[in-house]
Amino acid sequence: MVKAVALLSGGLDSSLAASIVKGEGVEILGVNFISPFFGPDKAIEVSKELEIPLKIIRFGEDYINLLYNPKYGFGKNMNPCIDCHSLMFKKARGYMEEIGANFIVTGEVLGSRPKSQSREALSIIERESGLTGLILRPLSAKRLPLTIPEERGWIKRENLLDIYGRSRRRQLDLAKQLGITRFSTPAGGCLLTDPIFSRRLRDELLHKRPTLSDLELLKVGRHFRISEKAKVIVGRNMRENLLLRNLLRNGDVLLEVKGYKGPLVLLRGEIFPEGVITAASLCARYSDGRDLSQIEVNFKTIPIGEEGSFIINPGMVKELEAEMV
Ligand code: SF4
Repeated sequence: MVKAVALLSGGLDSSLAASIVKGEGVEILGVNFISPFFGPDKAIEVSKELEIPLKIIRFGEDYINLLYNPKYGFGKNMNPCIDCHSLMFKKARGYMEEIGANFIVTGEVLGSRPKSQSREALSIIERESGLTGLILRPLSAKRLPLTIPEERGWIKRENLLDIYGRSRRRQLDLAKQLGITRFSTPAGGCLLTDPIFSRRLRDELLHKRPTLSDLELLKVGRHFRISEKAKVIVGRNMRENLLLRNLLRNGDVLLEVKGYKGPLVLLRGEIFPEGVITAASLCARYSDGRDLSQIEVNFKTIPIGEEGSFIINPGMVKELEAEMV
């Protein structure tokens, strides 16, 4: 039986693409990706509805490398969409070869995104991933060159579509016909398309090579750069305090105010006395004791090290907010 790997994003287009090819009698195996910036939750839901097994591939150091110098540049923010897609297709190709599948299916629609789904971008992605002729895009196939699955007769070109552009009308009609309901509405993209997160990430990349844990940390709390090599992260609520606790790493300093509700504060990077005092001041500033003239802040190094406390005047740190990243 002919087998194909379908890139399932959890959105409507990739669900339709996989369903169309499944309807041609091809065995479909889905694939999705996980990184600090995007995850497979929506794809998991969709794969259940479509009854397609889903393989989740984790990005690691390779994605960090890509963020330093994407060959095809960034979008509006820190989103290297063309390079990111190429990497996804390379990984999908690895999976295709591993399971002996014959080609790749995706829900890309020609012209639906000016940069990453232009005719030129689609052919760059094919070339960069070593999949020339092996990527079938059923929603726009009739507007694109003939692919190997069509040439070999695994898929009939007449059963494919010629959708172009941003309108969703034809996809929504088709979803009704095929009984597909559990798709997510099109969103602007992953976390890398968010301007605030992008600013924070840019700052991180400028100062050091982040680990995956550093990247996870970028999603939590208020971030303050206090030196070239150190940052303070302040939890904004109970959920974030808990997340910060889970992201603690050896060498971090953890701070909490004594006797008042307040944030969990983490100092990461180079530890120096003024830095710990600044972190303690921020901790005091965002606690319920912010209006006091003095408040005690406890600190300890992770895992078990120096412990102590400072008496802080929370008013001292107002100017520091200018350094928030
Ligand atoms: S929006 Fe994010 S996940 Fe999607 S291609 Fe661009 S960088 Fe990759």
